[in-house]
Amino acid sequence: MSEIVTRSAIVTGGGKGIGRAVCLALAEQGVNVAVNYAGSQSAAEETAALCQEKGVQAMAVQADVAQADQVEALFAKATEAFGRLDILVNNAGITRDNLIVRISEEDFDAVLSTNLKGAFLCCKKAARLMMRQRTGRIVNISSVVGLRGNPGQANYCASKAGLIGLTKSLAKELSSRHVTVNAVAPGFIDTDMTRVLPEAARDAILSQVPLGTFGHPEDVAAAVAFFASEQAGYITGQVLCVDGGMAM
Ligand code: NAP
Repeated sequence: MSEIVTRSAIVTGGGKGIGRAVCLALAEQGVNVAVNYAGSQSAAEETAALCQEKGVQAMAVQADVAQADQVEALFAKATEAFGRLDILVNNAGITRDNLIVRISEEDFDAVLSTNLKGAFLCCKKAARLMMRQRTGRIVNISSVVGLRGNPGQANYCASKAGLIGLTKSLAKELSSRHVTVNAVAPGFIDTDMTRVLPEAARDAILSQVPLGTFGHPEDVAAAVAFFASEQAGYITGQVLCVDGGMAM
């Protein structure tokens, strides 16, 4: 009889918004979850408690994904607690929107550091563990604006387009070890990140959504959970838009 293995995940920025929905969707599949956060400790602890209610192990782990030493500590805590790592979801992300002539170097660096370098640092750690295990799932949260561009978001779009290049390169690099790497590209999802936009900007975006509504974090989480599942083992290097038809 083959041994039943409980799979384990790290979800960066897992405390709230899309990240929380991803944690809960994975917990629903029986996956143990390390809920990473940068500053929102109580939200991350609440997410971990909600995962535990689904019968899995879960814990909140503080780490700024842009800092290599903190990423190192995040992976050490997760693997020490769960004994293995099967799934990495690079979800942590920030915006510092402005027109190109007004984007400061600091705001460009901050967005690239969190959204792209953070994912790189986490992928590097996960790749070592998963290659050794000869199985693994990496899912990167990109964005439709990484495919289409968006005025006022050059730094954010560059980071999200970069994630797609990272995804495809790693998909090719890690395929021989049965590690899949895919990206989910959400459109406009109702979270803290988008609630700060003025009403007029929200209306303008909504007019570009063929399905006529904003998405919910659970819509994105369902796609992530699929890529993370055992059933998705023959799918790698893909970018799945969860956007109400925006990018087609
Ligand atoms: P959100 O509610 O603002 O969540 C962002 C998450 O990222 C938070 O949990 C935050 O944790 C975490 N985070 C930020 N900087 C971090 C760092 N340096 N280290 C670790 N964690 C960090 O936004 P969301 O909409 O759920 O966004 C989740 C992901 O989806 C992001 O990558 C975003 O770019 C992407 N996305 C969102 C939309 C949308 O319409 N909402 C569309 C396309 C793509 P703390 O609060 O602890 O800092």
